[in-house]
Amino acid sequence: MGLAASPGGRPGSGGPRSLPDPSRRLDPAPDETRPPWPSPLLSRSRYDIDRVSARTGELAVALKGSCLCGKVTYEVDQLDSPIGHCHCKTCRKAHASPYTTTAGVLRSHFRITGGEAMLQAHESSPGKLRKFCSGCGTHVFAERPAQPHIILRVATLDEDPGQRPEFHIWVSHRVAWLDPDCPSFPEWQPGR
Ligand SMILES: [Zn+2]
Ligand SMILES: [Zn+2]
Repeated sequence: MGLAASPGGRPGSGGPRSLPDPSRRLDPAPDETRPPWPSPLLSRSRYDIDRVSARTGELAVALKGSCLCGKVTYEVDQLDSPIGHCHCKTCRKAHASPYTTTAGVLRSHFRITGGEAMLQAHESSPGKLRKFCSGCGTHVFAERPAQPHIILRVATLDEDPGQRPEFHIWVSHRVAWLDPDCPSFPEWQPGR
């Protein structure tokens, strides 16, 4: 697909941004029971960021993603919500990580392209299914089957989605040991 075929709007064409309704941030079940963006879903033009392939110079038509072992693969046409970091205890345990990074994707923009039979689900709260690869354990997405969207685990994308995280949620559950000021190294720490 060439640049002239771009179906979406350019960044910034959708008017001023607003943060998710703060009243939705303190859901009594710390488990993403509501989508992390205002309802109804944001219009395509607002979060559709044209992604130009470094390899071909053409518009990327879909983002690819996969689990650790590579058996589960998927494509998303676009992210349909802002990217956010969730610090809730449920996400922390599910991902064995201090927080997890998520974005909503409409089902019509999401396709499992391989290894669907490998996916198993953990129902972390009633009706909330966390889908993970039974071969390697990677959590790929979460869903409530009646909802029109899934909650993608953004870190399973194989490429940069172009968007950047816009908020942290459930920081009341933030671990005390998460220290963003640690020194960092390109690979192993010196002297290891
Ligand atoms: Zn896997
Ligand atoms: Zn969470």
